[in-house]
Amino acid sequence: MSSLGENLRAVRARIDAAARAAGRDPAEVRLLAVSKTWPAADVRALAALGQRHFAENRVQELSSKAAELADLPDLRWHLVGQLQRNKAAAVVRLGATVHSVDRPPLVEALDRAAERADRVVDVYVQVDLGGPEGELGGRGGAAPGDVPGLADAVAAAGGLRLRGLMAVAPRGEDPAPAFARLAEIGARVRAAHPTASETSAGMSGDLEAAVAAGATVVRVGTALFGARPLASEGPTAAGPVRPR
Ligand SMILES: *Cc1c(COP(=O)(O)O)cnc(C)c1O
Repeated sequence: MSSLGENLRAVRARIDAAARAAGRDPAEVRLLAVSKTWPAADVRALAALGQRHFAENRVQELSSKAAELADLPDLRWHLVGQLQRNKAAAVVRLGATVHSVDRPPLVEALDRAAERADRVVDVYVQVDLGGPEGELGGRGGAAPGDVPGLADAVAAAGGLRLRGLMAVAPRGEDPAPAFARLAEIGARVRAAHPTASETSAGMSGDLEAAVAAGATVVRVGTALFGARPLASEGPTAAGPVRPR
């Protein structure tokens, strides 16, 4: 089996084990393959192994990969990186789910673009769980106190569908308390918006803690594709190298 195939199997096994350990059905947890910095050929290879959902953190890279893979109609794209208002229309055209909605002007821009394109865009509100900024090439979401209002704004926007909350755990500390805070905020948002049932949390290093805290979507890059060079998180990306 290819290393991508082995990695995919290992990540799925981790998700299954974490779900069972938490008394959850593994089918409740969707795997999002974060393909940023990796070539479209890797996405194609994972797609051939049954992986359907892929995420990028930059709109330009998302656009070019989606164009290269336009012959695969079943692929579903997600944007997990910071989004500028002037790129909202491009994301909407791609039919991508946006995990990084963190401020009212972005809600307005996405809604306008969606209505213009006659589409409904799936949206997650990104929550800032603390920790240093800029680690993942952007800011880390809305302050917890601003999340309910932002969720209300998304839910009230005709062109947007509120799916739930997204967050990145602060690096260098136990992720469990951060994911517990996220679950609490999520429960509050769901009390007002019962269909906002998703929680997008957990990455290569902490997906078990996220699943234990109720994540329904885990976003995994490194454990599937290999290590990215540090510089690849920013706009001056060098090419990634998959270790042998
Ligand atoms: C890169 C990225 C991931 C994947 O992180 P890994 O540690 O490589 O699994 C998940 N979420 C976001 C927002 C990212 O930018």
